Amino acid sequence: MQIIRTVNELLKTVDEAILNGRTIGLVPTMGALHQGHMSLVERAIKENDITFVSIFVNPTQFNNSEDLEHYPRTEAQDIELLENAGVDVAFIPSSNEVYPEPDNRIFDLGEVAEVMEGKMRPGHFNGVAQIVSKLFKWIKPTKAYFGEKDFQQIAVIRSMVKNEKFDLEIVDCPISRENSGLARSSRNERLTKEQRQHAAQIYKTLKQSKDWQNEGLKPSEVIDKVIATLDQIPFLKPEYFNIVNSVTLQPIAQWSDTDLSKGEYPIGCIAVYCGDVRLIDNIKYID
Ligand code: AMP
Repeated sequence: MQIIRTVNELLKTVDEAILNGRTIGLVPTMGALHQGHMSLVERAIKENDITFVSIFVNPTQFNNSEDLEHYPRTEAQDIELLENAGVDVAFIPSSNEVYPEPDNRIFDLGEVAEVMEGKMRPGHFNGVAQIVSKLFKWIKPTKAYFGEKDFQQIAVIRSMVKNEKFDLEIVDCPISRENSGLARSSRNERLTKEQRQHAAQIYKTLKQSKDWQNEGLKPSEVIDKVIATLDQIPFLKPEYFNIVNSVTLQPIAQWSDTDLSKGEYPIGCIAVYCGDVRLIDNIKYID
């Protein structure tokens, strides 16, 4: 596996791959890799001639400096995982390499970026658009892989791809979960053993919410019940739980407010603090 730390070397390697007519898969990550990331990596390897994985804890997408400071960094272990999986190139740049000058670009990401994570984490999605657009310009992937754990992020990236006219395919990949049901996340490493056990109630409650839907509760009633249930669990503090249209990301009042023929379905998206660790997850209300 080639480990690249500079943009110059990256551009050379990409040029060569394109000259040789190779399809390029890209998996952007912030490292501290786990099985969730690796499921994206494995898919990229299967579907492309050459696979690039980027590892960069992007400062411009953190709206909370403590979260940035505490974000886990496990580079040596990450490199070993990627090497063993058969990745061709790991791009691991420094902040100066990515941002030699401050990035002042403001992206118009539309309504999908204004709710939920966009509302709770001002500037977050603009920072995501800054780094992902740079990676797309440099690596020119045929396909780029993103996880549905960050469901809203995928919608935001699709909006950016459309506005910036990037010629590539965005591939969404299902959420990988721990045995307990907890969505895998680099941030889980910051939970104590006890907190991690309680955090499993997030997905249990999301699954239960499908029963509540089937029993005839309206979206607003399901929302209240999910929040009330999680409020009872030690360490957990729900920040928001919204039931939204999977395409527009706007809240729905009735389950029938989505149109499956347009690829729309209801999805419940949640952010919960477990201690001081912020976790997100989601559940689709389709079979
Ligand atoms: P991150 O390193 O957290 O920025 O994540 C890099 C990519 O991996 C993003 O597209 C995430 O959505 C994806 N990802 C992270 N955790 C999971 C998971 N548990 N299941 C599926 N994809 C994931």
